[in-house]
Amino acid sequence: MSGIRIGNAESALNRLRQHDLERHRSATNLLSPEAVAGKTSPAKVLYTTLGGTPRPINRQDLATFRARIAEIGKNLRAGITAAEAISLSRPIDRERAQKEIRYAVPTWVRSGEVRFVTDSGPVSKVTRHHTRIEFVNWAAAIARPATALQSAGWLCGEGALRFECQCEAFTFWGHRYLATVGGFVLGRPENSYPKIRAPDLTCGPLCKHLVRTLTTLQRDMLVRRRIAEAIEQERKRLDKPGRAKPVTVRVSQAEADRITAGRVRRITVKPQRASLPKPPSRADLTAAIAAYAGRNDASSRAIARALSALLTQSSQSQSSARP
Ligand SMILES: [Zn+2]
Repeated sequence: MSGIRIGNAESALNRLRQHDLERHRSATNLLSPEAVAGKTSPAKVLYTTLGGTPRPINRQDLATFRARIAEIGKNLRAGITAAEAISLSRPIDRERAQKEIRYAVPTWVRSGEVRFVTDSGPVSKVTRHHTRIEFVNWAAAIARPATALQSAGWLCGEGALRFECQCEAFTFWGHRYLATVGGFVLGRPENSYPKIRAPDLTCGPLCKHLVRTLTTLQRDMLVRRRIAEAIEQERKRLDKPGRAKPVTVRVSQAEADRITAGRVRRITVKPQRASLPKPPSRADLTAAIAAYAGRNDASSRAIARALSALLTQSSQSQSSARP
């Protein structure tokens, strides 16, 4: 079985991003936010497939587009978790990820960004695709009173993300637009409405490459260890101020080969519901209390008292949970 070559991924990705920017700049058939708002009339007639058949866009369409945008905007916040994004993706994209995109291999971690290379589908013109994710709470993971590996696990499991894929589907089939309107796009925001390919915005946030990438992010231990290594190095840097060069943790081809030699992970969807944040663990609380020990200003003493109260509560709820 052939692996995924990760060499020169960085320069290849830079070329693709440049190409995307130039293509976007020269496009003449984009539906701008002002036009969707009904404030300007498009210079030329634009078409939509809303309702099934291609036809010129009318005022009613613009109202429909605005309603769809508002629906997504209701849930707006910075980032979306991997589990949420997968549960919002279309079943067809998950099926394709399962059958066609077998692996996502990380290439490097830097300042909260993780880059991946995935294999490509059977009819694709290229042999690999480039995806990127960014942790919105990277700074919080570094500051968290927990081990680097625990913090990395927290980011991968519950962390809010921004992401993008450099494939054409992500940009042309509405995913990039949806991610922009939803507040979780990474890289170039897409402001023109997908009037032809996804006029009802039911395209979901993920292409098949990102479905595979986020599944890998949730479950692969090598990815988690590399992220932990980056957190570890960032923490060391905190002790040596003045050395501002960002930390980059790279993945070797041998490590990439270990991932592609392993089994293909199943794509699974967990039903998502809004949940309260988990209470802090006893270890987190103890570490936080230790950090405030010996500080005598009023606010430190107040924080230490509050932390102690939380610790007492957590031991009470743990002992009452015992049979
Ligand atoms: Zn893609």
